[in-house]
Amino acid sequence: MPLAAGVGTLGVIDDDRVENSNLQRQIIHTDGRIGMPKVFSAQAAVEALNPFITLRPYNRRLSDAIAAELFADYDIILDGSDNFDTRALVNRAAVAAGLPLVSAAIAQWEGQIGVYHPAADGPCLACAFPDRPAPGQVPSCAEAGVVAPLPGILGAMMAVEAIKLITGAGRPLTGRLILHDALEGESRQIRVPRRLDCPVCGGA
Ligand SMILES: [Zn+2]
Repeated sequence: MPLAAGVGTLGVIDDDRVENSNLQRQIIHTDGRIGMPKVFSAQAAVEALNPFITLRPYNRRLSDAIAAELFADYDIILDGSDNFDTRALVNRAAVAAGLPLVSAAIAQWEGQIGVYHPAADGPCLACAFPDRPAPGQVPSCAEAGVVAPLPGILGAMMAVEAIKLITGAGRPLTGRLILHDALEGESRQIRVPRRLDCPVCGGA
């Protein structure tokens, strides 16, 4: 029986509920699941795709208090959160746990993706983005909008990096950042060096 690709256990953490305005870009949810906590909607979609995957839903917001214990149960962290503070928290916890972090972000027509893994001599997210942007400098998806297929493009690229990390195939994006400009139809890549004076991973 052919099944969708999927690893044995996925943990998904989010404290949002599905809203009508999410459906344009968040294809894991459906019109019939508006109002449902997103993690349970995601669980329904994944189990329908492949009933042999275990999805552990965490219907809460990630916090410093729970991140270390939660991350200890997993081998790879994928972050698609929509704000700097959560991304920074995920990075701190992934570095502390020695885990690779696949992190992507999107805005309007542009996306970026990188793999951060100081335990494999790569940079961490704070090496690449040390400073918190000023309020209003980076509008959120809800404020600025995002072209509908872009989360799917970046999400699929995150899955590729996860499969590469699991299987050891190819060359993970460690220390590199892909910048994808959908409006121009261009992708480019920049190197991200590790910062020895990084407050998160320096000396780790
Ligand atoms: Zn760092």
